[in-house]
Amino acid sequence: MEAVHKTDTRSWITSKINVKQFREDWDGSLSTFPISTKKEFKMTTTEYAELEKECGLATMKCPAQDYIEISKEFSIPEDVSLETLKLQKEDIERRQKDSKYEALVYCHSKNYNYPTHHHAGIETVNPDDAAYVKVQEPEVLLWVQVFRPEKRSTTYYKYNQARMPNFAIDQEFIVLGCQYLTELRDKIDCVSDKAIPGDYSDYPDLPPETTCKDLYKSGFFYIDGTFYNDMRHADCRDYSEPIISWAASSNRGIGPFRKALMEKSKFIDLDLQLGYPYVYVHQGDCEHLIVFSDLQYYTHHHCSNRLQYPLHVSLKPKRRVLCMICRIHTAEWIVFDNKRLPENPFYFCKTCFFSFNYDENNQKIGNFRAYHHIDRSNIL
Ligand SMILES: [Zn+2]
Ligand SMILES: [Zn+2]
Repeated sequence: MEAVHKTDTRSWITSKINVKQFREDWDGSLSTFPISTKKEFKMTTTEYAELEKECGLATMKCPAQDYIEISKEFSIPEDVSLETLKLQKEDIERRQKDSKYEALVYCHSKNYNYPTHHHAGIETVNPDDAAYVKVQEPEVLLWVQVFRPEKRSTTYYKYNQARMPNFAIDQEFIVLGCQYLTELRDKIDCVSDKAIPGDYSDYPDLPPETTCKDLYKSGFFYIDGTFYNDMRHADCRDYSEPIISWAASSNRGIGPFRKALMEKSKFIDLDLQLGYPYVYVHQGDCEHLIVFSDLQYYTHHHCSNRLQYPLHVSLKPKRRVLCMICRIHTAEWIVFDNKRLPENPFYFCKTCFFSFNYDENNQKIGNFRAYHHIDRSNIL
């Protein structure tokens, strides 16, 4: 894939890291740390606090930082040698000259779903809890960002807009090196899985019985030239096969690819590049970019309960789809092909759906199809 996604021009993508090697390197260097005893690396809370005080992020803050960040009048001096300031200066000048670039920067910063707290993974449980299994050391943690699906939404388009990539982070998790890829897959919550198949317009009161996840269980992760297919269930399909044959028969310079089972592959055995856009595909064509944003050696700073991983990192609340009648409540129904409506499809909250589409005898008014709408704001 290097022929398509050239990492040497993208400074935020690291070179390839073997996760197991990373763990062994740290384990080796920490076991020779002066304050540790023999092969075991252990620091007391006081020693950690001291280290944090000496080397923590707070020590990097300069006195003028708050002023620099909030003041529009702040100008960067000419003869600076600090690389970050040089780059910032270039960036500001480029934004002033190039309005398209400025719009792109704005678009990226607007779509980034910042974690609401920066201490994810910190101890949150009591080791005496019944549901507690201690993380086995040495261990590593990987931060995994799951992006919003790269797929046409069912939202109506007034104009035929050019297709824009979707760079919003939908969910973020911390996984342990010892975990299987399927453990992450089972934690990813996506509206495509929760969707309720079928037209319910003739029996809207009927409680839905099945979701798309119950029906369609196939999926894969694509990481570093390998398709990790989830084949845990008898009816799972190998999504990767048509892609592998297509790549082999085309002369686009991609591939050859490998195949592996998701349920037999662990994060510790991966080779990966931090910042590189990998892919998760499920429900046929629901495509999410997956980015490993950080890799850390496990210490007692992190949550020690094995059972809490993959640990969900809280992100800011997601924007919900509003009822297009009252504009107050979250949409619960989506209606297609109703000639009495100005837009197709049309989103309704429960109350507006029944009062507009059914008469006093609960009879359907006109012809239309109605599906349950599962809103993104209601998951994770
Ligand atoms: Zn999805
Ligand atoms: Zn409403």
